[in-house]
Amino acid sequence: MDNIIERNSASWRWENKTVFHARTVYDCSIDRSAVFNGQGEMLYSQEVVKEGFGSTSLMLKANTDIQDVRPRPACRFSLAINHENWQSFNRLSVWVYPKSQGFINFYFHAAITNKENQNIVHAPSLIPNQWNHVFFEFPDFVREDIIGISMGPLLMGCPPEANPEVAFYFSNIVLEQVSPDYDFGWDLEERIAYCHSGYFLDAEKKALVAASQASSFKLLNEQNEIVFSQPGRLIDNEYGQFWEFDFSTVQKPGLYKIQTGNKETALFPISSFPYREALWKSVHFLKSLRCGCEIKGVHSACHLTHHTIHPLDGRLIGDWGGWHDAGDVSQFAICTAEIVHALLDCAEKLGQHDEELSEMLLDEARHGANWLLKTHFGDGYRSLAVLYSIWTSNQIKSADLLKMETPTTIKNVAENGPFENFLASAALSACAKMFQKRDDIFAHYCLRIAKADFAFGVEGLKKGLFTRRWGRGPLAQVSGALVLAASQLYELTKDEKYLDVAVLSAQEVMDCQEVNLPNWQKPLRGFFYEDSDHKHYLSYEHRGHEQSPITGIIKLMAVAPHHPQFSKWKQTVTLYQEYIEKTKDFILPYGLLPAHIYEKDKINLDRFTLPNRDLLDSYLRQLHEQIETGIALDDEVFLRRFPIAIQRRGFHATLLSKTKAVSAISQSLNSARMRQVAINQVEWILGKNPFATSTMYGEGYNYHPLYVAFSQQLLGALPVGIKTKGSADVPYWPLVNNAVYKEVWGHTTAKFLWVLADLLL
Ligand SMILES: [Zn+2]
Repeated sequence: MDNIIERNSASWRWENKTVFHARTVYDCSIDRSAVFNGQGEMLYSQEVVKEGFGSTSLMLKANTDIQDVRPRPACRFSLAINHENWQSFNRLSVWVYPKSQGFINFYFHAAITNKENQNIVHAPSLIPNQWNHVFFEFPDFVREDIIGISMGPLLMGCPPEANPEVAFYFSNIVLEQVSPDYDFGWDLEERIAYCHSGYFLDAEKKALVAASQASSFKLLNEQNEIVFSQPGRLIDNEYGQFWEFDFSTVQKPGLYKIQTGNKETALFPISSFPYREALWKSVHFLKSLRCGCEIKGVHSACHLTHHTIHPLDGRLIGDWGGWHDAGDVSQFAICTAEIVHALLDCAEKLGQHDEELSEMLLDEARHGANWLLKTHFGDGYRSLAVLYSIWTSNQIKSADLLKMETPTTIKNVAENGPFENFLASAALSACAKMFQKRDDIFAHYCLRIAKADFAFGVEGLKKGLFTRRWGRGPLAQVSGALVLAASQLYELTKDEKYLDVAVLSAQEVMDCQEVNLPNWQKPLRGFFYEDSDHKHYLSYEHRGHEQSPITGIIKLMAVAPHHPQFSKWKQTVTLYQEYIEKTKDFILPYGLLPAHIYEKDKINLDRFTLPNRDLLDSYLRQLHEQIETGIALDDEVFLRRFPIAIQRRGFHATLLSKTKAVSAISQSLNSARMRQVAINQVEWILGKNPFATSTMYGEGYNYHPLYVAFSQQLLGALPVGIKTKGSADVPYWPLVNNAVYKEVWGHTTAKFLWVLADLLL
């Protein structure tokens, strides 16, 4: 670890923790009880040995040229542990040396199992041909009776430039006791919570410490001169006791740091565009996610043999291009379309203010738009869910493998999804607008496909179509997407037919909103239900689209300001603004927006990722328990701070989709208050949270390594997000690296960029 990105990371801090005591679990020079599982072989070797750790390493060998089978073949060893009590330890440590030629990284699992057969699995990304210190804290894992550990790489294929034969050398496995990181709750202990990326000149500027710490602070400039000092404001509420340090009156651009007691922050900017670095890094992250071409330091040209097949006529479209979506290097049309749209909106806003960055955004948007263009079959069908999750040699080994009757060929089957078609249409029409003066041919192509996608979307919606993977979408979400796409097409073409359909669907969106104050002890209105029957509250557990009804209506207002319905549309937006106003101070001093309203007998299980449909009663019970820990609005109605979920916990995207609605309102209604609420959410992502961590890798400080699987850590990556534990409605950000919460995700970045588009200049 010798560069600034690593030194500012949480890994660096963890690496330098004091180890109070340690005990060897397995000495590779002596012990021989390890058992091999999976593909390959296990040996003991003196070929590669970690200095100071004995004369012998445990060695795993494997051939990575595997077929695309699930679950992934592993190459691991396991150790039986004789019901040991590990209460006096909280960290497992091992050194691993992957020896290989041509690989960028290795996907690795290290796991501990207790008597109840509960596992804690840590999945770091290992760098080849050097010793990797693999360690993870497990402060809340039940460890009175440990029965086993296991570790080794999972085999994820072999890229063309690599030698498939690989070897892994392990030095001793050690249990350690360290001072564990704070990972669950709202407390700050000795940390300073602030926005690592900095503060806008004209917005609030606040930092937080626990009330047990020094009660005043100084703001210092780059020359270490005190430019501002003030006592903190005491905040004492259900989330704890805090000092809030407010330096909002400082409005001179520059680099500053906060000093309080014997602690100080790093330098951060106060400027008209403090998130420029974060924006640049986000685009850098997307460039790292590009598929189908060489990305230096990330991968060679990839997935050139993968196709989507049309289920009705057998036509094939190559899947490569666009962006890998997440740690599993899959790709989904929904995420790609929203990334394209967000990039274009940012580029438009930056425009002449920052041409260099704007052009970079446009170039990236065009890359994604090209994937949307090529994966359009021309009859409503698109490549919607493309699963790769393997490196291959890019050779199709037999022509038979391309036939529809071959089981592996039907892995990626095209579907006709109206929601996906509306998102693609909106993204491509935004593309047509931005490129019309830059590249006439490209702009016309985008507009033609945008019109076609829109027409297929409308037709599909009439037929009641929806995709197999995601099911029928909420009306508020799907109609919102329709209104956005139609409004953009109307703006571009001036064709009244788009306005007509937008107006009709806007009414459907409005019908999904609660406009009356319910008879609750703490009544709220302005939020959305899934459908016009008001049976289920609009809520999300993983991807977030809460912005959809609002961004659709706001765009319609922008393109048809003299329409007779305008005041009704504005009322919809104003009511949602009221909902935000009334809930924005529920989680002070962080200013985090609560997630969703829930009622026990109004849960739509179709909206949840449930691993086993036979356990629905159990899941429902768990969801009910989670609902009860929310903020009570009435006897049976609760506003959860974080979404309820069974499997996919991690909530940046749900938060940022709501934030996008708020930032769009701030623009539409010119509301500084809504802008501040949106900024507060970005600050949560970038450091002003109980863990004082920036969750963007390589931005700010104290960022955790993320779950990348197929690459080394990626600069600018945002994860699925801070999660919850059990039924508690409390933030949880454990050190263990695993999916989905730590998984890098283009969808999070899309929502982040889309919010930034409204906060820029
Ligand atoms: Zn790829």
